[in-house]
Amino acid sequence: MLKDSFGRTLDYLRVSVTDRCNLRCVYCMPPEGVEWKPHNTVLSFEDFLRICRIMAELGIRKIKVTGGEPLVRRGVASFIKNLTELPGIEKVTLTTNGLLLSAYLDEAEAMGALPAGINISLDALNPEQSKQITRNDNTVPQAILPLLDRLLGKNITVKINCVPIRNSNEEEILPITALAKDKNIAVRFIELMPLGFAAASKPVPGGEIAALLEKTYGALTPYSGVSGSGPAVYYKLPGFEGTIGFINAISSGFCETCNRLRLTSGGFLKLCLSDDLGLDLKELLRAGASDKEIAHAITEIAAKKPRYHNLSEVYCVRPSEHPDGMSGIGG
Ligand code: SAM
Ligand code: SF4
Repeated sequence: MLKDSFGRTLDYLRVSVTDRCNLRCVYCMPPEGVEWKPHNTVLSFEDFLRICRIMAELGIRKIKVTGGEPLVRRGVASFIKNLTELPGIEKVTLTTNGLLLSAYLDEAEAMGALPAGINISLDALNPEQSKQITRNDNTVPQAILPLLDRLLGKNITVKINCVPIRNSNEEEILPITALAKDKNIAVRFIELMPLGFAAASKPVPGGEIAALLEKTYGALTPYSGVSGSGPAVYYKLPGFEGTIGFINAISSGFCETCNRLRLTSGGFLKLCLSDDLGLDLKELLRAGASDKEIAHAITEIAAKKPRYHNLSEVYCVRPSEHPDGMSGIGG
């Protein structure tokens, strides 16, 4: 079992399979995009799979496939299938912006290997507001909304992730909440973390959103029935089939129960979202390290996971200090 020096069990791995993306969300990338990692510095799916197998032997039980946008990388459906077949892995999920989701589902269904859960990012239902945030003329909400019933029909857990930004998409909070009224999905509000390009935008505190929802719909009742390995806290609203989640990364902090490690597309195992402590696994792979040596190095570095993240509105991690911004780390 992987443990850190504070006694936390690390059983959840987020794997960013690419730093590339087909959107340019304002809080994640500059308008011109970021410089992509050259292909030869991004791990192959074989290498990712080998690391995941070794980590499953060390106690990783859940894997989230993320990016950049994971669905822009060819072969991701087979990769997800291979992950679901790894001994020890109990759950594989995906995080996506949804633009290529329909085509991915066709491919994954044909392979008979769908992920247990899919998180879809959706910051606005209004097409103009969506365009403003994603800086893309593709109509993201139209790509996503027709797929919700298809996903639920396949017993896939659906979570919608919305990042409210002050003076930007605040008007979208209620319409996005309403998606959980008649569908058994979780709508989650994530506090904007001042990392990289997000440092220029202001978060809307989760407490403020909760107050707005209570004023509109009635009391939020704590709910423990949503499966997941993350820091979200879930509630029910009166008459709602689905749930509402809050990831109050800044206002409440969630580090005490953090169980996660992150593997970047370049093969760097990150211990925490907010700093560069970690292990260059690509270097070990390329030096010909054995499975046993890799397992030993992972166990040693995992013990050094920091107790708390250092993100706050007063301490902003600037892009220049953080070459692997959110699109490189995978959220
Ligand atoms: N492209 C995929 C997507 O958008 O879902 C996966 C990668 S994206 C980096 C993963 C999640 O991180 C998304 O839900 C996105 O909204 C969130 N995210 C990106 N930058 C963020 C920030 N600064 N603060 C909070 N969440 C952020
Ligand atoms: Fe791409 Fe996701 Fe970042 Fe948006 S949040 S630019 S979709 S990686």
